[in-house]
Amino acid sequence: MRRVTVFGSTGSVGVSTLDLLARRDDIRVAALTGGRNIALLAEQAIAHRAELAVTAHEDCYKPLKEALSGTGISVAGGPGAVVEAGYRPADWVMSAIVGAAGLAPGFAALSQGRTVALANKESLVTAGPLLLAEARAHGATILPVDSEHSAVFQALTGEDIAAVETVTLTASGGGLRDWPLERLKNATPDEAGRHPNWDMGQRITIDSASMFNKAMEVIEAREFFGLDPDQIAVLIHPQSLVHALVAFRDGAVMGHLGAPDMRHPIGYALNWPERADLPVARLNLARAGRLDFAEPDLVRYPALSLAWQVMRTGGAAGAVFNAAKEIALDHFIARNIGFLDMAPVVESTLERFADQADIGAAPRSLAEVLAIDTEARRLAGAVAAARRAA
Ligand code: NAD
Ligand code: MG
Repeated sequence: MRRVTVFGSTGSVGVSTLDLLARRDDIRVAALTGGRNIALLAEQAIAHRAELAVTAHEDCYKPLKEALSGTGISVAGGPGAVVEAGYRPADWVMSAIVGAAGLAPGFAALSQGRTVALANKESLVTAGPLLLAEARAHGATILPVDSEHSAVFQALTGEDIAAVETVTLTASGGGLRDWPLERLKNATPDEAGRHPNWDMGQRITIDSASMFNKAMEVIEAREFFGLDPDQIAVLIHPQSLVHALVAFRDGAVMGHLGAPDMRHPIGYALNWPERADLPVARLNLARAGRLDFAEPDLVRYPALSLAWQVMRTGGAAGAVFNAAKEIALDHFIARNIGFLDMAPVVESTLERFADQADIGAAPRSLAEVLAIDTEARRLAGAVAAARRAA
């Protein structure tokens, strides 16, 4: 029996993960963690006979306790309890909380030497070097779950990273890709929250429309694979069938293709280093007919340029970038600022942070990352409020 813990089990990646786990008979679920969707968390915990169910919110503890009374499933609540779940024995841990809240639970699992399937890209963007060092120090393994990074990882299997010239991440262009530029400023959260190809959580779907998601993924790729910023490229690929391309020094390009279904990269991480049957649609290129590619328009997607700015700055910039992006997104979802205000809010936050601190200095601990995150959120909140008032 393999013991498995799923952080963020009630989210999009979490539900896909449990779908795969339910099809196997060699899995024991150690812990599931969720947020406010107590009905779903309780249902999952019962269906998967979890040993422990944790809600991240203290005020949700009681309802969860009631929902699971008489089941024998242990219950806990609060952010500390989520982190605690990471210390429990497990062979495989899915890190699928959204946002910087996923950082500490992932660190906890790595500190125990676990194999961590990392969907939470915020971990690598905010604390990449620390996260990799933690894994090395404890003999832990990090496996990428983001589809593009899983694709690169698979294309690199058996290869020498020194032979890589470039890594190209593809992007669908998001739900507003074909809108005229002048309409974008009026885009609503609902409109930006519809994805043409992938079925994902609301936040990452809006981040796809703005390409903040791709900006995060560029930084994630740099950290995970140890690439130089100028080795990474992005191509718009509306069909979302080619997930990434790796070009080698001898001119060969290895691409990873497949139907857009997160159960592929999740399942790859679950079965790694082997491959096993997965319930995903098979790619039929004759039916797909064509694969299109185009350079992204940086006027339409200013967030993308910020990724290279962040990578060149290094140090605290990734944590500031992520925190500011999360706040800008909150304000967009609350309709305080417009779709096109998000990138300027993040850019101004990076500037303000650099005015008051050495943004190029690398955080030396998780506590320092979290302090940078808190300060960047404060600054971004002020910038967003000023923009709203203007
Ligand atoms: P989601 O919003 O659907 O689910 C997020 C999960 O995190 C939920 O279980 C929620 O309860 C939990 N959560 C939210 N806030 C929390 C907090 N403060 N503390 C503890 N738990 C909290 O998100 P998602 O789309 O499943 O994405 C999860 C992560 O995976 C993100 O980092 C995202 O960028 C990444 N990712 C997602 C996809 C996808 O297809 N959805 C693809 C690639 C990468
Ligand atoms: Mg992705």
